Amino acid sequence: MMKWNKSSRLFKTAGRYIPGGVNSPVRAFRNVGGSPLFITRGKGSKIFDADGNRYIDYVASWGPLILGHAHPSITRAILKVIAKGTSFGAPTEQETELARLIVQAVPSIEMIRLVSSGTEAAMSAIRVARGYTGRDRIIKFAGCYHGHSDGLLVKAGSGATTFGTPDSAGVPRDYARNTIVLSYNDSEALSRCLRKDGSKVAAIIVEPVAANIGLVLPEPGFLKTLRKLSHQDGIVLIFDEVITGFRLGYGGAQEYYGIRPDLTCLGKIIGGGLPVGAYGGKREIMEKVAPLGPVYQAGTLSGNPVAVAAGIAMLKELRKPGVYVRLARKGEKLASALAAASEDSGIPARVNNLGSMFSIFFGIEEASNYEQVLKSDRELYRRFFWAMLERGVYLAPSPFETAFVSLAHSESDLDFTIEKIIETFRIIKT
Ligand SMILES: *Cc1c(COP(=O)(O)O)cnc(C)c1O
Repeated sequence: MMKWNKSSRLFKTAGRYIPGGVNSPVRAFRNVGGSPLFITRGKGSKIFDADGNRYIDYVASWGPLILGHAHPSITRAILKVIAKGTSFGAPTEQETELARLIVQAVPSIEMIRLVSSGTEAAMSAIRVARGYTGRDRIIKFAGCYHGHSDGLLVKAGSGATTFGTPDSAGVPRDYARNTIVLSYNDSEALSRCLRKDGSKVAAIIVEPVAANIGLVLPEPGFLKTLRKLSHQDGIVLIFDEVITGFRLGYGGAQEYYGIRPDLTCLGKIIGGGLPVGAYGGKREIMEKVAPLGPVYQAGTLSGNPVAVAAGIAMLKELRKPGVYVRLARKGEKLASALAAASEDSGIPARVNNLGSMFSIFFGIEEASNYEQVLKSDRELYRRFFWAMLERGVYLAPSPFETAFVSLAHSESDLDFTIEKIIETFRIIKT
């Protein structure tokens, strides 16, 4: 049996000073019970906790660490700039380099603004869409998470789902009123909504692949319909690619599916494990952003030199040939092992997989929207999670999160994980 005494002690102390002992709610293990692990270091595919246990990590800091922990290229890039000063509040050449790399990579982005988180990126993209169209309403889809800004915390996924409080306290009714929530993959509902209110809608924001309720794929034609209908009504289509950007391919989900949104939100991977977000898109829309235009958005640490250096090093690794084929092969290997384990053990489960992302939903057959996902068996996930953790595999402490494979996961890591999956399915059966 693994010992977690030191982590539990650290968690108790943290709770005296920090609400719930964590700085982001999903870290608190509420959805699987028990006490979170305190991590002391990571290297490649592994993380190490305060009690000295070692795990193969499939959380990857919730998505950013596509090269694994402490990748030498990123560490080197950070060390190289950090001694020259950590923030100037004035432009640096490296910001242009990261911006150029992103513009060259992502098909629809002509101009881009760097911010410090995905939340800021989504919040700012919405503001720009409103400023550009002169309209107030936005459409989002149930279970899609776009950060924690007021108007977007309406039926959000991720941590908000975990706690069963999709509508946060403290969000003014007037804010939420301008957010229309529709069901993911429901083109019909969207079409009906736009026939009535299309001319009042500033933006449709969507995760092109929903990855904050576990992994839920867009059905064929869904994204295309979004593109077509938003275009018809002069609505700004925003792809929130904070997870899928540089994850699903070097050009993100929009390249993968061949659909060009008007604006794109990025985060996670583009910071190489440091805080960076970005929003960008059509020049005509981005020229509305201050100081060029009337839409205000700013940030003391935006384009921070250390974070930008990490981001540049990350993208330079990811544009090497063969990266995404290798990633997808690893993701598919684990996903098929999960599906096979479910089949062999007679424990019904739905496994969703795309590239290096996957998730398992126990006890349901279909997982193509939020409503279906909520019917999955959480108790079974809880048992699965703890049995895997005991065996040295660190999965997300919630059934409503996506697992991420990195380039650092070796074949032997994957084989080890599969062995543990098979063992675990035997145990949770009873
Ligand atoms: C993580 C995430 C965000 C929020 O990013 P933060 O950096 O946590 O603020 C926004 N949108 C999506 C799709 C995300 O996965």
